[in-house]
Amino acid sequence: MEQQLEALRQAALEELKQVSNMDMLNEQRVKYLGKKGSLTAVLRGLGALSAEMRPRMGQIVNEIRTELEEVISAKAEELKQAELAHKIASERIDVTLPGRRSALGRKHPLTTTLDRIKETFMRMGFDVAEGPEVEKDYYNFEALNFPPDHPARDMQDSFYITEEFLLRTHTSPVQVRTMQSGEPNSPVRVIAPGKVYRWDYDATHSPMFHQVEGLVIDKGITFADLKGTLELFIHEIFGNDVRVRFRPSFFPFTEPSAEVDISCVMCKGTGCRVCSGTGWLEILGCGMVHPRVLELSKYDPAQVSGFAFGMGVERIAMLVYGIDDLRLFFENDLRFLRQF
Ligand SMILES: [Zn+2]
Repeated sequence: MEQQLEALRQAALEELKQVSNMDMLNEQRVKYLGKKGSLTAVLRGLGALSAEMRPRMGQIVNEIRTELEEVISAKAEELKQAELAHKIASERIDVTLPGRRSALGRKHPLTTTLDRIKETFMRMGFDVAEGPEVEKDYYNFEALNFPPDHPARDMQDSFYITEEFLLRTHTSPVQVRTMQSGEPNSPVRVIAPGKVYRWDYDATHSPMFHQVEGLVIDKGITFADLKGTLELFIHEIFGNDVRVRFRPSFFPFTEPSAEVDISCVMCKGTGCRVCSGTGWLEILGCGMVHPRVLELSKYDPAQVSGFAFGMGVERIAMLVYGIDDLRLFFENDLRFLRQF
């Protein structure tokens, strides 16, 4: 009996040495000390022993039980410490690692271009005027001397909302509103930046795009003022090396009218794909305000004169940044936008 108990003790200690986690430890506890465990079974069997054997065996069993309990609780503590150490190691924060930066937004290349255009004119003393994007036909066409049969007034070219209202096709109506809001013949020097809408979509046209138009009216304004202002602006945006030329053109609201070209920024004027081999790039339209337009807004062409100009912001941004497809501006592709 004593030998059996000693064998049981040895086996239990040996098995406990192999235990490597809490689950295994619990299994061992149940196996030896549980209600149906080996040691408990021995304890129960003591009743069958003789009266002189019983206390001695009981004592041995209790000693083994105490020893096993101590080993098990020491083992449990050891496992707990190991687990904690592992947890600490795995959750350790390396304070020397660089932090995670939140992504910073930045200005859209069109906004940057528009800002530069605005700043340049504001330094020349221009005010910035804004107006509605849903505009009356009167302000968009009629007051600007567009004849009723002008192609731009066709439903196919402009976004009409009703017979009377449309999405403005240029920011010129802001000029009309500016003229009509002041005293008759009062001086005007404004630019009107903003969104405009036309029925068009390809690599160089978008149904929504941005324009900046300008208007100067005062006594004695001449074409020389127009040329000086626009040349200064162009050199400010494209650098002093570009050459500028004025080419006769036609607009209903200016007379005389001109298209302004700059020497190609890609090939420096020798001819390339971007300038279609001509060495020149068309960049804006301008002219002296048509006397009829002045009259329509209660200005007296005998007393004052003025000039007006208009440009597409996308066109200028494409040339400044060397972008060949205007649609890239509106696709919200971060790979494209992050380059600026
Ligand atoms: Zn070129």
